[in-house]
Amino acid sequence: MMTGSEYRQSLKARKPLVVFMNGERMTGEPTEHPVVAASINSIALTYELAEDPKYRSTLTATSALTGKTINRFCHLHNSPEDLYQKVGMQRLLGQKCGTCFQRCVGMDAFNATNITSFEIDQHYGTDYHKRFVNYLKIAEENDWVVDGAMTDPKIDRSLRPSQQPDAYVRVVERTPDGVVIRGAKMHQTGAINSHEIMVMPTLALKEDERDFAICCAIPADADGIIYIYGRQTCDTRLTEDPPGESLDIGSIYGGQECIIVFDDVFVPRERIFMDGETDFSGRLVDTFAGYHRSSYACKTGVGDVAIGAAALIADYNGTAKASHVKDKIVEMIHLNETIWSSCVACCYKGTETPAGNFLVDLLLANVAKHNVTRFPYEIARLLQDIAGGLMVTMPGAKEFDNPETQKYIELYLNGAGDGTAINRFKLLRLIENLTLGRAAVGYLTESMHGAGSPQAQRIMIARLADIGKKKDLAKRIARIEV
Ligand code: SF4
Ligand code: FE
Repeated sequence: MMTGSEYRQSLKARKPLVVFMNGERMTGEPTEHPVVAASINSIALTYELAEDPKYRSTLTATSALTGKTINRFCHLHNSPEDLYQKVGMQRLLGQKCGTCFQRCVGMDAFNATNITSFEIDQHYGTDYHKRFVNYLKIAEENDWVVDGAMTDPKIDRSLRPSQQPDAYVRVVERTPDGVVIRGAKMHQTGAINSHEIMVMPTLALKEDERDFAICCAIPADADGIIYIYGRQTCDTRLTEDPPGESLDIGSIYGGQECIIVFDDVFVPRERIFMDGETDFSGRLVDTFAGYHRSSYACKTGVGDVAIGAAALIADYNGTAKASHVKDKIVEMIHLNETIWSSCVACCYKGTETPAGNFLVDLLLANVAKHNVTRFPYEIARLLQDIAGGLMVTMPGAKEFDNPETQKYIELYLNGAGDGTAINRFKLLRLIENLTLGRAAVGYLTESMHGAGSPQAQRIMIARLADIGKKKDLAKRIARIEV
């Protein structure tokens, strides 16, 4: 396994990436840019905590493939308990960085591809699973961050891929040695903090859409890959003096999303895990979505930070004893633990797949993610309510160093108890960061749309809930003939 600093170094060892940010091609090492560095601070925790004896058992697992100790983010889940350990790890990391730590998409892609490649082989006699297992052993051994890339641009959602090929990643050339792919993936979490990218189809495909049914792995620095970096609210605060450290940033941690463009990228044969088996694309999408929806347990960790911030700002504001404040904090806890309970339940109701790894209960995983599309917004609303308007009207951090304003700032931003002006300022900047700054990208809008928008979960919930059986239950009690 890599240490945190080895991980940071390993990113620099890649060939220079083609990255565009704010209209310019980044020169130099992109991971040293203060905006990117904040996102690396989060993902590096997945290595740093694995080194820490206190958290080692949470962050590591025994490989099902080699029996070696590996980082849990590279692991095929072996049991319901293993699935539970996974969501426990995600809550822990959310608590530690208060934002998206970016590494879950790869783990979820591994587990979904393990299932699907096995099932394709069973059906068609192909050798995708063997190739995938070989690949995963390398990923485990190297302790890679792998960006699981599923979401295509889609452009006009009323049209099929074959009617607008540019809207979906597709194979444009097949040779005896491999394939060439073209297209783009959107919203790619941790894209330039990754060693590898695993491409998966984005929807269930029809028979004549073979070229879009591609699942494969590519090095993040492969020729033909272009990254276009996503903006976040308040991101340029990271570039202000001192870069990455100004008190106005609220948190040294950040998330990262990019558009990844595949401008004719070659994929060797041994890294292709599905090519043309359209009838299995839906299975890959559903299993990846199921894993990833349960992974949104990360938001309960961020929720813990939000609840802690609410209780602390109430102390600083002198409102902690007010009954309505106490009740609002209870409400926040109730919402957060409701998310957690569905995340835990979908793990313990997980079952073994024919490939041998365990899959979460898909109905409960969809319920979990559906809770995530709603409750963080209410938790954030209550946090802002308790914090007060100062969280958005405060002057900048530099006033603490300005001799003309310092004495006013230090007097009038003061709070109760140990809520000195500077402590109150730091905490309010964290609350701003969580509820409408950089971390709100992950805690709110990504909670809504990441791993599928709310309607995607409602479709799955309707499909998996067995309404017919429920009708029969009602009929029996109502004495209607079944
Ligand atoms: Fe992991 Fe959560 Fe970030 Fe997705 S949003 S990559 S589940 S931390
Ligand atoms: Fe996500």
